[in-house]
Amino acid sequence: MRTYKTWKWEKIYVSSCKVCGQNFEHAKNNAMYCSEYCRGRSYYNYIKKPIQISKCKYCKKDFRHKKNNAMYCSPRCRSSYVWYNRNEVVI
Ligand SMILES: [Zn+2]
Ligand SMILES: [Zn+2]
Repeated sequence: MRTYKTWKWEKIYVSSCKVCGQNFEHAKNNAMYCSEYCRGRSYYNYIKKPIQISKCKYCKKDFRHKKNNAMYCSPRCRSSYVWYNRNEVVI
């Protein structure tokens, strides 16, 4: 029985890093970052979400936030809105 060298089944992929844009080689087909450093930076970017602008449900003013589902410009408006609605229900 003959044996073959098996380097061929080990595929090497080349991707460009999502953070620094450099090409890098890797064995996984879904690698996105060239290094732990870039992975860390991408996590940091994820935390630093873009600021969104929404209209406050209570005072109708535009306000900036980083949450996807923010509805009130401040805790004060949130509690005012809840209080207002509770009042309406009572009436
Ligand atoms: Zn990188
Ligand atoms: Zn408000």
